[in-house]
Amino acid sequence: MTVAAIVAAPAIEFDRVCARYERVEVLHDVSVSIPAGSVFAVLGPNGAGKTTMLSVVAGLLPTTAGRLRITGNDVSHLDATTRARLGICLIPEGRGVFPTLTVSENLWMMTHLGASRSDIEAQAFMRFPQLSDRRNQLAGTMSGGEQQMLGLARALSTNPAILLLDELSMGLAPKVVTELYDVVVRVAREEHLTVVLVEQFARTVLSVADRAALVSTGRVLEVGTPDQIEAELQAAYLGTINHSVAHTPYQALEDRIDHDQGAP
Ligand code: ATP
Repeated sequence: MTVAAIVAAPAIEFDRVCARYERVEVLHDVSVSIPAGSVFAVLGPNGAGKTTMLSVVAGLLPTTAGRLRITGNDVSHLDATTRARLGICLIPEGRGVFPTLTVSENLWMMTHLGASRSDIEAQAFMRFPQLSDRRNQLAGTMSGGEQQMLGLARALSTNPAILLLDELSMGLAPKVVTELYDVVVRVAREEHLTVVLVEQFARTVLSVADRAALVSTGRVLEVGTPDQIEAELQAAYLGTINHSVAHTPYQALEDRIDHDQGAP
């Protein structure tokens, strides 16, 4: 591969990827390119396959067909630990903190990669000043937003190249979600980090993403700019609202897919 090709390679490339749980295939021929240094949103209804896409990137679920490339290199055969060493970091739904340890202890656990306690704390408290006041508090007693900040601080302390965030907004107030995404986007811009955001709530992430994909029933329906994806959701909603009782853009989108595919 030439230097130019490496520079131009997407950070993550799904190339006709299929994946399954046991015998049930849940990703079908998924092809998406995620540019390096971009904030990319994966949107879609419950069960669409969003979390599964992150699991495939992190190496927690193997591909059964197709290729998963990271900066142009096929990593389909690499396990999760090796991919973590390559700088792929997943924050799963549910925050990724140790509730019975204090904030500082949660951060100190990240010294295994070589950074000192004081450096990790200083970086975490610079990014999330609110955590500094709570350094001796048990993580499990903090608010959901603060726990999410701590999870992000822990993940960022590993200096990842690719950050995969699953439903950061789960159970949080909209204002807190906006604050968290603001930090994520700032860090992504400053440190040329590639960020993949999985969300059910389109509006919040479309306001911060560079590009987005709309997925449903394990297939990619559309990839585009936030405006294009927003327009697609709007069109689905407006196109269906006169004919059905669709209450959300996703439901309208699914109704339209069913209709296109000839479902009764
Ligand atoms: P949500 O927004 O509800 O979290 P999602 O878009 O992230 O949904 P996935 O969690 O990727 O969807 O699930 C895709 C499909 O795979 C669903 O039909 C789900 O029931 C199924 N699935 C997910 N995890 C497993 C598992 N461990 N074993 C079997 N099936 C699974």
